[in-house]
Amino acid sequence: MTADSASRFSCKLHKTTKQVSVSDQSTAAYIWFRRDLRLDDNGAISAALGDGIANLIPLFVLDARLWNSSGDARRSYLARSLRDLDAQLDGKLLVVRGAPTDVLATIGSRAPVYCSQDFGPFGMRRDADVIKQGVDLRFADSPYAVNPGSVFNLSGNPYKVFTPYSKAWAAHGWEQSYPCPPPSVWQRESDDAFAPFMCAIPDDPLPEMATLPTAIATQIADQVEVFLTQRVGDYRDNRNVPSIDGTSRLSTALKYGRIHPRTLLSRLGNSDGETVFRSELCWREFYADVLFNFPASAAHDLNPIEGLTYDVGAQADMRFEAWCNGQTGYPIVDAGMRQLLQEGWMHNRVRMIVASFLAKDLHLWWKRGADWFMKHLVDGDLASNTHGWQWTAGTGTDASPYFRVFNPTTQGQRFDPNGDYIRRYVPELAHLDARQIHEPWLEPKQRKGASLFEPATLDYPKPIVDHGVERDEALARYKARK
Ligand code: FAD
Repeated sequence: MTADSASRFSCKLHKTTKQVSVSDQSTAAYIWFRRDLRLDDNGAISAALGDGIANLIPLFVLDARLWNSSGDARRSYLARSLRDLDAQLDGKLLVVRGAPTDVLATIGSRAPVYCSQDFGPFGMRRDADVIKQGVDLRFADSPYAVNPGSVFNLSGNPYKVFTPYSKAWAAHGWEQSYPCPPPSVWQRESDDAFAPFMCAIPDDPLPEMATLPTAIATQIADQVEVFLTQRVGDYRDNRNVPSIDGTSRLSTALKYGRIHPRTLLSRLGNSDGETVFRSELCWREFYADVLFNFPASAAHDLNPIEGLTYDVGAQADMRFEAWCNGQTGYPIVDAGMRQLLQEGWMHNRVRMIVASFLAKDLHLWWKRGADWFMKHLVDGDLASNTHGWQWTAGTGTDASPYFRVFNPTTQGQRFDPNGDYIRRYVPELAHLDARQIHEPWLEPKQRKGASLFEPATLDYPKPIVDHGVERDEALARYKARK
């Protein structure tokens, strides 16, 4: 890590014993950390200091509704992040357990509470309820460079298609990064009002899981440096190759606000790789904007295809099980689903392939797959996940999607030509060569130029469906309803 990046991201504080009670401090405010678990480039902190408030009390409310609805990977990352944030704050992070309405009601209007604005459906309802309790909640900043709900088309309507949104997003622009506050602003709360809610940072449910992305701010800073100085140049080409580290792997840090997208955007130039990377960051903002404007799309199709039928029943359930466990008999699909279970993460290209397979080869409702993703993804994010799924299923933001059916075999051959990615996650196929590994079910006589190939007895399932047949079936179902 360079000295420059260290000062930008590492906000470890010096020890101080000063304690503050909001009841006798007119210049104290709370910083309520939510999806912005960082000290650097944090607009809520800067807003409080800009209002002349000298003492900031860092607060995190552990809300059982969010904790219980997260999978272990996300709980683990949150616990690790809180521990790191607390260390950066020299042990001053006040962690309380309860519904924010109850916890924050104890503050009432005695001291302002600054936070970054949550634009998700749950967060907006929660914050409205908190305000109803008389809390002086002050929003500044959000997890996005451009707040959801900020850009509209010429008719004044929200965008539903990415390209015009991305142009409006770039034209709108974003704030400059905010500086890391001086350590002296952070104080430890001594107000007894919180006593009933006080709790420790929750235990990490997956302490042994080393494959999760780092939740340590200095290491995230290193990761950013490595990506922006060594990898972004090849990002345009490498981002689609799942066997290599061609992407930033910053989705989880972004999800939990360990880093703000503005911090990344401020460092991007206009090379091919940087332009594509900026565009990917924009997809995240686009989906947040769509979810904000169409909150029902969290659970329902944005562009429903009336009368489209999905498979249900025992066979559908068995196929879903096979998909979840990486046992479909399609190597690239199974590799992706196993990567998800092992690492809590999956490469974007493979997310598209497995999502298409669920929706168009298995004819299952996308929401089943989206829920499985949310349970297991460490970067699980309602907006990106829901709309990533709907885009693939053809009921979301894509303009003419129904005829796009990914062929899992040719996708594997194209994006994992040597089979390295498959070999890593599907050890049963590790001995097959690049030619065999994408179609392990083929007998030698069916495989072009494969006369020397002796089919091994594979401990690997035969394909649970025939892609060609199911592709036609998917197209027939969509066309019948268009
Ligand atoms: P990079 O390629 O380095 O991209 C940089 C950042 O841009 C990412 O960290 C992410 O914040 C954003 N980004 C990139 N691609 C997309 C995209 N297609 N949509 C939205 N944002 C994007 N991303 C999530 O963060 N959470 C999810 O729950 C999620 N679910 C998905 C479900 C499906 C079915 C699909 C197809 C995509 C989903 N994505 C989701 C988007 C994408 O797969 C991940 O953001 C990406 O794989 C994360 O890896 P990275 O950080 O290395 O990405």
